[in-house]
Amino acid sequence: MSRVFNFSAGPSVFPEPVLQQAQQEMLEWRDSGMSVMEMSHRGKHFLMIAEELESDLRSLMAVPDNYKVLFLQGGATAQFSLIPQNILNGKTKACYIKTGAWSEKAIKDAQSYCDVIVSASSEDTNFTSIPDASAWTLDEQAAYLHYTSNETIHGVEFQEVPDAKGLTLVSDMSSNILSRKIDVSQYGLIYAGTQKNMGPAGVTVVIVRDDLTGHAGKSTPSVFDYASQAKNQSMLNTPATYNWYLVGLVLKWLKTQGGVESIEQRNIAKAAKLYHAIDQSNLYSNPVAPPFRSRMNVPFILADESLDKPFLASAEANGLFELKGHRSVGGMRASIYNAMPEAGVLALIEFMAEFERTH
Ligand SMILES: *Cc1c(COP(=O)(O)O)cnc(C)c1O
Repeated sequence: MSRVFNFSAGPSVFPEPVLQQAQQEMLEWRDSGMSVMEMSHRGKHFLMIAEELESDLRSLMAVPDNYKVLFLQGGATAQFSLIPQNILNGKTKACYIKTGAWSEKAIKDAQSYCDVIVSASSEDTNFTSIPDASAWTLDEQAAYLHYTSNETIHGVEFQEVPDAKGLTLVSDMSSNILSRKIDVSQYGLIYAGTQKNMGPAGVTVVIVRDDLTGHAGKSTPSVFDYASQAKNQSMLNTPATYNWYLVGLVLKWLKTQGGVESIEQRNIAKAAKLYHAIDQSNLYSNPVAPPFRSRMNVPFILADESLDKPFLASAEANGLFELKGHRSVGGMRASIYNAMPEAGVLALIEFMAEFERTH
């Protein structure tokens, strides 16, 4: 067996001890006599898994008691529509910050439910920056302010919680949740698909303040009504049981790593090394303004596009996979989530230097 370093943007690298534990527990989970995949979601063993999952996430993120933690399906993409359906609560407007491909998609879907005010956009810089919050045009009648804390495709990340000027703050944290410390109490709602930094695809975490639930429109399906899911511990219908279990294992792994604060320090170090290598080279460049560079997704281009193919081929020959950039922006992208060991980043840096020397 030879596992490679996997720089995929999502689904993405897993902590190896988690895969080993899942393998060990495949046929029988603890003393249950069966695999997690075979358990009833109403049975006592799965309920233990579900309770540990929620309490581990609550403790890792210090989620206050007046927030519900939901584990839903439909991906972050479903939330683009479900957020307005659940929390507009009679209002007709919502503010969005447009900083890249994912916030663009969130805006497009929200437009079916309300008047979307694009309070700021960095489209004119090709999504390589974040407009200064002092210039945002916020509407105090808006139900909420939505932003994408890390733009997975453009490699742009908010380094601080933006000032929502009293509006309810909503954030898509799909690609940087649990990578840095955040203060949940500053948000009305946080959501994230699990396939970037928390586990496999198939679960969407929604952390929502109590007062924002219970206002879904009549046409909102019950499985997508935050209040009814909260009342049923996210088990209004059959949840993605095995995926919950895997997310739970990733959270337990994160605890063994010292939790969010320690992993954040490692993420800072990994990203700094990679950006430094890019900045001091003559072949590679990253277009994002330094204050807004993502610690999770590092896009870079080669000065000569004809080298893209040979770069990817020889990267793979060196055990470095999934470095091709998103089709919409081209070039390369290295996603270096929590589970990417520093050794992977160092191997990439060494390979890039060698490729530059020989090309
Ligand atoms: C991947 C991603 C999404 C989409 O997630 P799905 O699970 O495919 O719906 C949304 N937002 C961000 C920031 C992402 O990185």
